[in-house]
Amino acid sequence: MEVEGRVLRKVRSLLIDYPLCSRCLGRFFALLRPELPRQENGAMLMDAAMGEAVRSDDAELLRALARSGHPVSIDLLRERGVEVVVERCSLCRGKVSTERIGELVRAAAEKASGYEFSTFSVGTFVPPHIRSLEDHLISSYGLDSAESVRRDVTREARRIFAQLTGRAFSPSNPELEVLLDPFTSTFEVRPAPVMIRGRYLKHSRSTPQTPWLCDVCWGKGCDACDYTGRREGPDVSVAEYIGLPALELWGAMDFTFHAAGREDLDAAVEGSGRPFVLELSEPARRTVDLEEFARRVREFSRGKVEVFDLGPATRADVRFLKTETERKRKVYSVRVVFSAPVPLEAMMRACDRLRNSVVEQRTPTRVLRRRGDRLRRRTVHDVTAVQVDERTYELTLVVDGGLYVKELIHGDNGRTTPSFRDLLGVEPEKIELTVLGVLEPAWRGQAHWSAGADSA
Ligand SMILES: [Zn+2]
Ligand SMILES: [Zn+2]
Repeated sequence: MEVEGRVLRKVRSLLIDYPLCSRCLGRFFALLRPELPRQENGAMLMDAAMGEAVRSDDAELLRALARSGHPVSIDLLRERGVEVVVERCSLCRGKVSTERIGELVRAAAEKASGYEFSTFSVGTFVPPHIRSLEDHLISSYGLDSAESVRRDVTREARRIFAQLTGRAFSPSNPELEVLLDPFTSTFEVRPAPVMIRGRYLKHSRSTPQTPWLCDVCWGKGCDACDYTGRREGPDVSVAEYIGLPALELWGAMDFTFHAAGREDLDAAVEGSGRPFVLELSEPARRTVDLEEFARRVREFSRGKVEVFDLGPATRADVRFLKTETERKRKVYSVRVVFSAPVPLEAMMRACDRLRNSVVEQRTPTRVLRRRGDRLRRRTVHDVTAVQVDERTYELTLVVDGGLYVKELIHGDNGRTTPSFRDLLGVEPEKIELTVLGVLEPAWRGQAHWSAGADSA
């Protein structure tokens, strides 16, 4: 192959200053022959440079080629009785050879065989000092056809990995990420999390939504909690009733439970349920029978928690859960037992007063320890009451997301106004809350029933 004199002059000055392996040399001139493997391109350039060195009797270039490990130059110099010491490549220190990339990728493919995946991506880590040396060489020697170490390794690794596993390369949404560090000969294989969306029902008034955290360390783990980060609760949480069977089914390392809003320990969730997204990290499996999952949740919780409407989710679904919840209207059914009889007319007047009115709530006393004290204004859109007996009523409430319903009933010592307690002048003794669902913001016209709720 013919190599331009301009290129050979660059090869000469580069190799006289820095010993380079054939792959690194070839990479600096990659775009001249992009179809040629970098190592072959480098070997070809060294051959051409040697031919030129012999023609022009350039001993300095011959020595430089031999020092970089060019075999024919080494033989020639040795024949002439010149001692040759081959030096390590200044750029990659001998780490970025075809053999070493192959070894690393084979090990990664072996590890990946423990996971179910159909698509993958490859990333390569190149230490900063190598990157700066590379940039320095490219600019000082005018190497305008160069390719970076990172691109070179990534491209080759991608090709070998696809060949070994038969899976497709997909940089945008891979099910498995392969991360290579050829400089320390280490790699990581990371399956993307599996995200499952669905809705849950909670037929229990003693099941918290999330695990109770240790009072001392708030979940970090300490002596007091035996490094579990947990505190004994009255029951396993909804998050665990759903997450633990999933860990087993998907063969995952850990789970994160995202729900559309919260509910208290003693509030049931019925009707259309509350939306959630379950995120499973490092899953060994990605295709799992969702009916089987629902069955296991029911079994593990002994019927207290049910999941339905299950399907695949994305990050966007989690963001939507978090941001949209507060803007929606929630529907609750509340059973209240008062400490004294409440006449039906008094209850009707209280309902009329509250319907379409704005309630002012300071952060409830019961959550004050965990959240800052602030004033929020939320609207009660509708409220109806059915008398059960002279002290007991079933209320149905449609309220803004984020309205604290229990406080609307008992007033929280004047921190919520108005309240049923203040309007009726009677203390509620027992409040039983059930979340019935969420109304989409498109409230007028056809009310669309979806699910979920916020702080009750
Ligand atoms: Zn090298
Ligand atoms: Zn602790």
